[in-house]
Amino acid sequence: MVLGDQLDYDRFLPEDFDSATDLFWMAEASEESTHVFSNKHRIVYFLSSMRHFRNHLRSMNLPIRYHELNNPETCVSLSDVLRKDILDLDPLQVWLIKPGDFRVETALRTVCKETGTLLKIRPDLHFLYSEKQFEDHAANRKSLRLEFFYREMRKRHDVLMEKNAPKGGSWNYDKENRESFSRDGPPRTAPNFNTPPDKVTREVISLVEKRFSDHPGNLSLFNWPVTPKGAQSQLEKFLTDGLPLFGRFQDAMWVNQKTLFHSLLGAPLNLKLLDPMKVIRQVEKAYEEGKVPLAAAEGFIRQVLGWREYVRGIYNLHMPNYEAFNFLEANHSLPKFFWTGETDMACMKNCLSQVLDSGYGHHIQRLMVIGLYSLLSGVKPKEINNWFLASYVDAVDWVTTPNVLGMSQFADGGLMASKPYSATGAYINRMSNYCKGCKYNPKESVGPRACPFTTLYWNFLERHRERLSGNHRMSMQLRNLDRLDEKKLSEIKKTSDSLLHQSN
Ligand code: SF4
Repeated sequence: MVLGDQLDYDRFLPEDFDSATDLFWMAEASEESTHVFSNKHRIVYFLSSMRHFRNHLRSMNLPIRYHELNNPETCVSLSDVLRKDILDLDPLQVWLIKPGDFRVETALRTVCKETGTLLKIRPDLHFLYSEKQFEDHAANRKSLRLEFFYREMRKRHDVLMEKNAPKGGSWNYDKENRESFSRDGPPRTAPNFNTPPDKVTREVISLVEKRFSDHPGNLSLFNWPVTPKGAQSQLEKFLTDGLPLFGRFQDAMWVNQKTLFHSLLGAPLNLKLLDPMKVIRQVEKAYEEGKVPLAAAEGFIRQVLGWREYVRGIYNLHMPNYEAFNFLEANHSLPKFFWTGETDMACMKNCLSQVLDSGYGHHIQRLMVIGLYSLLSGVKPKEINNWFLASYVDAVDWVTTPNVLGMSQFADGGLMASKPYSATGAYINRMSNYCKGCKYNPKESVGPRACPFTTLYWNFLERHRERLSGNHRMSMQLRNLDRLDEKKLSEIKKTSDSLLHQSN
């Protein structure tokens, strides 16, 4: 059985596969697009990539039973389709690579148990670190931190290393990677990643337009690579046109500049169309050949070799409990404008409209605009997590849940991040030009032009003063809070209450 995010062209064929008795099995199921109200781009991306993978298997004359979503009655849930086929085919056993979604794994285990079928779950060799290795890494550590894990990975895989030391003398060049643009904006145009839809993708687009017509997403913009070949050309374009500036400007944002110098490789990586180590080696080579600065190569490699493996480790270690965490006791519903983009906060309008239309937003838009607003306004972690899972083309549960709940919402109380990513509108103003076109002023926390981020930031600190007081990384922020007098705090509270009331 091959799931939609397991399209690993290099490793899909088990050594013991026997065409005479074994059969590949894949199914498109509508529930995978409706259990969270998925963006049309995400649906097309998964379905088209799956169909290309199926065609690849067929071209190798491998036996496959594949269910297309065309029939609304038969392909509702993966479990139902699997159950029917188990009854029909009566297999000795079902083999499956470890799913990246605990919900799916549970459902499939249940079907096999109910039908008395042996289920064998194999490790996902796409990843560079096994579950067992992560468990060992986590054992006896009071807290997990990316930095230690990342250094271990650099050494273990000999990436950007010189003898036993990191290239350039430092493990991390983030200080060089936090520039914003000058008043004129990005120094040059972003790489043009454009993979025009082929016949298979066009068919899927019409299917999705029909079956999921009320879901968000403008499919005339669909241009994602759905095969390893397409993903590799995107990587090559990124290496020459994006990576040289990626590091410096990885935290910068600019109105109507959707992709800037980001790679957009999260989507093909997460569907396994690209091999992470091959990507890392190509980036390392670009640095060795003097084509990109060390800070850019290291910043990118840290995401793939460090962060990506780290969040998967956390997910596998802590699920299913992880998704129920709510350390800050956030209890507001997700504002409706998250589904429409209709808000007068220019930064939110820009970032939300972009992802609703195209299924894409880069990491700083996710963390420091959309995630930040949600953190400051106390949206229930589960609701914002589901929104992220539904909205981004690269979203799979193992990536989204730790990133959103842990890093962005601090719902795990510091298991992943050492402090909440809280900031005022001043941060957004420094890193973008969104505030220039906004009716609010990022410096003001009360009054008619008060920036909601700034107001909610102070209110957030005040609400969680006690909870965060033991965290030394929050001490400066809390000291600044202490400087506000009672009257100001009470005005901030009033303004915050009214903002939160309006947004629902
Ligand atoms: Fe966003 Fe505040 Fe800036 Fe407006 S003023 S764009 S709400 S940060």
